[in-house]
Amino acid sequence: MAHAVTLIPGDGIGPELTEATRRVLESTGVEFDWDVQEAGADVMDQYGGNPLPDHVLESILRNRVGLKGPITTPVGTGFRSVNVALRKTLDLYGQVRPCKSYRGVRSRYEDVDVVVVRENTEDLYAGIEYEQGSDDVRELIEWIERHGGTVRDDAGISVKPISIAGTRRIVEFAFDFARKNGRRKVTAVHKANIMKFTDGLWLHVAREVADENGDVEFEDRIVDNLCMQLVQRPEEYDVLVLPNLYGDIVSDLAAGLVGGLGLTPGGNFGTKAAVFEPTHGSAPKYAGQNKANPMAMMLSGVMMLRHLDEADAAKRLEGAIADVIAESKSVTYDMKPTRDDPTAVGTSEVADAIIDKLGVRV
Ligand code: NAD
Repeated sequence: MAHAVTLIPGDGIGPELTEATRRVLESTGVEFDWDVQEAGADVMDQYGGNPLPDHVLESILRNRVGLKGPITTPVGTGFRSVNVALRKTLDLYGQVRPCKSYRGVRSRYEDVDVVVVRENTEDLYAGIEYEQGSDDVRELIEWIERHGGTVRDDAGISVKPISIAGTRRIVEFAFDFARKNGRRKVTAVHKANIMKFTDGLWLHVAREVADENGDVEFEDRIVDNLCMQLVQRPEEYDVLVLPNLYGDIVSDLAAGLVGGLGLTPGGNFGTKAAVFEPTHGSAPKYAGQNKANPMAMMLSGVMMLRHLDEADAAKRLEGAIADVIAESKSVTYDMKPTRDDPTAVGTSEVADAIIDKLGVRV
């Protein structure tokens, strides 16, 4: 039976990566019933100013699985991120971003295999912000000052909520992920020395959950120290679990260890649905040029196949991608020694090469 999947092409480089990914997924022999849905700034006018119309959310809830291209969030226009809204509205609380070395990738490291598990609904990403100069921010500053704090009167304020329940479920998710995937260790990342009531709470709850999961090793790291250690000795890390903002930043850092954003996939998991999308954004400067690397989105498709219990197809597709990387021939500009390498191929040619390899791997 065909798998019903909501397919959101996104914008910028999203539509061309989505098309390349759809082609390789179909070439595995697995059947899909794609429910194509548009979201983002381009559809706002059509849907009363809403970049994430209800029917898109309903489609994901109906199918329980989505595959999504990146969607642009304009800086400083008051436009809230569709990506963040989608994760929050569907309560896709657990984000998984695997960063793994593939043979043949140009990188300073050879054997990195780190999985970033990021909390997706709380922290400074919660969208609770008070604009500089507004009545709300003035009231908030007065309240803070009445309670012994000091804030300059021309400040804007973002709020960082971290809850016991939100922390418990993501750390439990990280331990479950580690156990199901045969991983040895979970590292909880925080800045508990400074933010005592948010990151301190996170660390306390993480330790409690670790005590209940004694079969998997546990440790914690302060986030700045973790960044330095990841760059020096990435092989020491396995599954990292982080609050939302650190998770966002550290997953890009980890992508840099394994060859860049063109290679790092992701999945967002909740109890009602899962949505798979690459770590990278919409790279608007490359939009429509058949230039961007589709592998991160294709590897997100591999994660989706595993989620759909299509383990054999997932293995064949990942193997075909790994073969194309190892040959270093049919790869995009970002995987060549220099950015203007004339032998770099385009997005759709990468898909063709992977489809050829899949033919051999049937
Ligand atoms: P970006 O990831 O789009 O691009 C950063 C740089 O990485 C680009 O200049 C490009 O050189 C490189 N890059 C990214 N993806 C690549 C690919 N597939 N192949 C080759 N090179 C690639 O990050 P940005 O420039 O900070 O963000 C652009 C837009 O994307 C913003 O509006 C941002 O909000 C949005 N964004 C969306 C998501 C999402 O949809 N989940 C995630 C991150 C950023």
